[in-house]
Amino acid sequence: MLSYRCAHSEERKKLLKEFGLNIYRPTRPGQAWVRTTALGSYREVGRACHYLTTNESRVMIDVGVNIASDTDPMPYFNAPEALPLEKLDAVILTHAHLDHAGMLPVLFKYGYNGPVYCTPPTRDLMLLLQTDYLKVSSAEGKRPPYEMEHIRECMKHVVDVDWNETTDVAPDVKLTFHNAGHILGSSSVHLHIGEGKHNIVYTGDMKFEKSWLFDAASVRFPRVETLVIESTYGAAGDFQPSREEATQELQDVIRRTLARNGKMMCPVFAVGRSQEVMIAIDELFRNGDVEPCNVYLDGMILEATAIHASHPKYLTADLRRSLMQDDETNPFTSRWFKQVQGRDMRESIVLDPSPCIILATSGMMNGGPIMEYFRNWAEAERNSLCFVGYQAEGTLGRRLQKGFGEVPLKIDGQTHMVKVGCEMITIDGFSGHSDRKQLIDYFAQMSPKPKNVICHHGDYHKCNELGHSLREKFHVRTWAPKNLETIRLY
Ligand SMILES: [Zn+2]
Ligand SMILES: [Zn+2]
Repeated sequence: MLSYRCAHSEERKKLLKEFGLNIYRPTRPGQAWVRTTALGSYREVGRACHYLTTNESRVMIDVGVNIASDTDPMPYFNAPEALPLEKLDAVILTHAHLDHAGMLPVLFKYGYNGPVYCTPPTRDLMLLLQTDYLKVSSAEGKRPPYEMEHIRECMKHVVDVDWNETTDVAPDVKLTFHNAGHILGSSSVHLHIGEGKHNIVYTGDMKFEKSWLFDAASVRFPRVETLVIESTYGAAGDFQPSREEATQELQDVIRRTLARNGKMMCPVFAVGRSQEVMIAIDELFRNGDVEPCNVYLDGMILEATAIHASHPKYLTADLRRSLMQDDETNPFTSRWFKQVQGRDMRESIVLDPSPCIILATSGMMNGGPIMEYFRNWAEAERNSLCFVGYQAEGTLGRRLQKGFGEVPLKIDGQTHMVKVGCEMITIDGFSGHSDRKQLIDYFAQMSPKPKNVICHHGDYHKCNELGHSLREKFHVRTWAPKNLETIRLY
């Protein structure tokens, strides 16, 4: 990554100069106004995309893919106000997950040539995840919406900004990133518009609880009138157990599975949950709570973990300390973890009768190496399938959670029916999203309090119920808009 950027340093210098000229262009006369438009992830989870327009500028926040949909994977780039893409002043990313950054290279394919603002870890993780997305798509015979050259183009345009540093991104828009507690480098985006005319915070995906990896999301902002908040677990009854309870559940299912001589499959995102589960497993083995066995990591997890280790200041102080000491205390280099290298090794693990644990991508079972293990191990009752992350509507993971006893799997272009006989369990406590109580606590502790709240990133009733509760409790104006709706804020 670094060497790539050095090789293009002249080109980068030129680009940065152009970005600067655009930001400090003469301003237009006339009345000021601010609007935010929903281009994706409203009343749904996936393809996050917000479009902020003012009398001076156009800024896009997040450019995600809807991984659960083959027919509508993109945000509404064809909305009239989004075109032409050349007119866009800046793109800002909350975090690297594909549902927030997976479609970014498409902008460069279709003519965008401006800056992309994100934190340094988001830059590194995004490169990894977008590259993996291309790999997984082509392995499944799908035509990806962009090529490697567009990912490279996108990297060239990244301007990295650390948390709590304020940067001009357009003539009348200043950006500050704040910790969002969700994954490495994840941020809430604070925008200060028109010399204080309006301040808006897009939370991005957000966790308002300290985890093993990250501190809880920040709630202090200099000023904020409008909050755009995620609502993944916003409905009544969306309660998540604590990290301690989650570890207990994990311990129980590992014990049960190993006692049956079975294998435990854990579909994970390469970024976020896998590192959390690795730390938990390492601790169970180290404390002697569970008899150690082999833990295989398949699909970009080790690369993602290495990126965590290279950005220690984005981790909790405790974890930072244990990473800096010797290898003994470093949970990421624990001797139990083994990287699966290539197809041959995967096949020999599948045939090996001894019990083990597999952490493999993708997290929602819509492709990736987890499918290979699942196809071979799903039927046997001694095995188990353990979900630790959110399963979006339309994915295989969600269908399995609903209890389908038999599911169709596409293998080498052919559809096979796979019987599901293994134990299935969902452990909610490892989630990187706030549950309903944490979402409401976040708002209660926010300082200062916004007067407008826009709910997105959740099924309709989640967005609606969260908005309703915040309105009742705090007497704020709330919206749960549909994609393509625009709200005028100033
Ligand atoms: Zn996310
Ligand atoms: Zn998300």
